[in-house]
Amino acid sequence: APHHDRGPGTSREYSPNANIQVPWPQGTECIARYTFKGTSEQDLPFNKGDVLTIIVVTKDPNWYKAKNTAGREGTIPANYVQKREGVKSGGKLSLMPWFHGKITRDQAERLLNPPETGLFLVRESTNFPGDYTLCVSCEGKVEHYRIIYAKGKLTIDEEGYFENLMQLVEHYSKDADGLCTRLIKPKVEEGTVAAQDEFSRSGWSLNRKDLKLDQVIGKGEFGDVMVGDYRGTKVAVKCIKNDATAQAFIAEASVMTQLRHDNLVQLLGVIVEENGSLYIVTEFMAKGCLVDYLRSRGRTVIDGDALLHFALNVCEAMAYLEANNFVHRDLAARNVLVSDDSIAKVSDFGLTKEASSTQDAAKLPVKWTSPEALREKRFSTKSDVWSYGILLWELYSFGRVPYPKIPLKEVVPRVENGYKMGCPDGCPDVVYNLMTECWNLDPGVRPSFHKLKERLQDISQGIGKRH
Ligand code: ADP
Repeated sequence: APHHDRGPGTSREYSPNANIQVPWPQGTECIARYTFKGTSEQDLPFNKGDVLTIIVVTKDPNWYKAKNTAGREGTIPANYVQKREGVKSGGKLSLMPWFHGKITRDQAERLLNPPETGLFLVRESTNFPGDYTLCVSCEGKVEHYRIIYAKGKLTIDEEGYFENLMQLVEHYSKDADGLCTRLIKPKVEEGTVAAQDEFSRSGWSLNRKDLKLDQVIGKGEFGDVMVGDYRGTKVAVKCIKNDATAQAFIAEASVMTQLRHDNLVQLLGVIVEENGSLYIVTEFMAKGCLVDYLRSRGRTVIDGDALLHFALNVCEAMAYLEANNFVHRDLAARNVLVSDDSIAKVSDFGLTKEASSTQDAAKLPVKWTSPEALREKRFSTKSDVWSYGILLWELYSFGRVPYPKIPLKEVVPRVENGYKMGCPDGCPDVVYNLMTECWNLDPGVRPSFHKLKERLQDISQGIGKRH
C-alpha cells in the first residue's frame, strides 16, 4: 500500500537544518498538508485538510500555538501545514490554460515545439468557425484533431460526446481512446496560470472528498447555493457546473482569498474539478440574506439598535475594503448576509476589483449605482459610498425596494437632477443625514467609510445614553 501521508518528521524527532525562516504573524491561516496526531497534552491534533489559525508565535519557529475552526487550541508543527496566501492576480487565472483561442495551425505547431509526446493545446478552428481543434505532439509530429460541435455537444470521433472542452480533455487525458497518444501535458497559454495550480499553491484548494453537500438553500444567478459540511464545519457552497461561468467565478474566489474581515463572508476554500465544476466554499450564514431578514421580521421585531448594528457591521467591512483599495461595485442589502449570532457580513465579490481596474457596465443595478459610475463607469470607493447610502435606506425601510413608485427608466434622470429619496418612517434624522451625504452628486464631497464609521459609532453611543 502507498504511504499514507504520514507527514514529515517534526523537530521533536529530528532537528532540520537550522532553517532560518521569518515567523508567521499571529492570525496567519494555514491548511494542514498532513495529519498530525500529536504526541503531548499541549499538542493540537489535526487532520489533513483542516484549517488552522496561528494565535501565538513561539520562540521555536518550528512550532506554533494555533486554533482550529472549533476553537480548540494547542501546539502544531509548522512543517505539517501550509500557510495561506492571497491568490496572485498578476497572471490570468484560467480553468482551461491549454485553450489558446483563435491561433492558426502554424502557430499551434510552433507552440508545440520542441516536440514532446502528449504535449497538447486546443484552438478555435479557423476553417470551421464554432468548432475547435485539438493539437497534440506525438513522436515528433503534431496531429490536429477536429472537435465538432454537434447538437449542443462536442465530439472528435462521433462516438464519445462531451458537454464542454474540459470534459473532453479530461477524458483523453485518461485514455488515448483512438488518438495518437493520451493528453499528458498542457501547453499553457502565455500569461495564463492554471487556476487549479494557483489555488493549490496558495493553500486554498480543498478536497472534494471532505465536502458533503446537503440541500439547496439558495439560487444564485449561475448555480445553486447549498448547505454542506466540510470536516465538521457547516458551510455554504456555491456550485457552478458550467465551465464558462466557472471561469467568471474564479475571479470572485481569487478576490476572496485576498480579504479577511469579521464583516466579510469568509472564504474557506475552493474545489476545482477536472470536468470544469467549481465549488466555492464559504462560512455558513444561518439567517440568510439581509433584505429577506428585514422583510420577514419587520419593525415589530427589529429595533433601532439592531438596525444601527447592521449599518455599522456593513460600514466596517467597507472601511476595510476602502483601506485596502478594493471597490465592491455591487453593495446592496441583497448582498449582505446575516450570521447565526446576527452579525451582518458583506458577500458577493463577483464584481469586486482592485481600485485601478476598469469594467464593462454590463448589467448594473441602476438603483444602487452612483450616477458617475452609471454614466462614465467611474467606479471608486466613493461610488460604493453612494450604494451604501441606498443600503442604509433599505435598512431603515425594512427591505423596501428603493425609489418606490418611480418607474425604473425615470430613476436616473431624476437622480441626476438632484432628486433624493425621503426619510424612511421612524428613521432618526442623524441617520437620514448620512444617507443624503452619501448621495451627493459630487463623489469628492461624499464622506469616506472611515468617517461614516465614526459618525455611526457616535450615533450608536448617543442613542445608548438617551435610553
Ligand atoms: P449569486 O451571486 O450567484 O446571485 P448569491 O451569493 O447571491 O448568488 O446567493 C444566492 C442566495 O443563496 C442568497 O440570497 C442566500 O439566500 C443564499 N446564500 C448565499 N451564500 C450564503 C451563505 N454563505 N450562507 C447562507 N446562505 C447563503
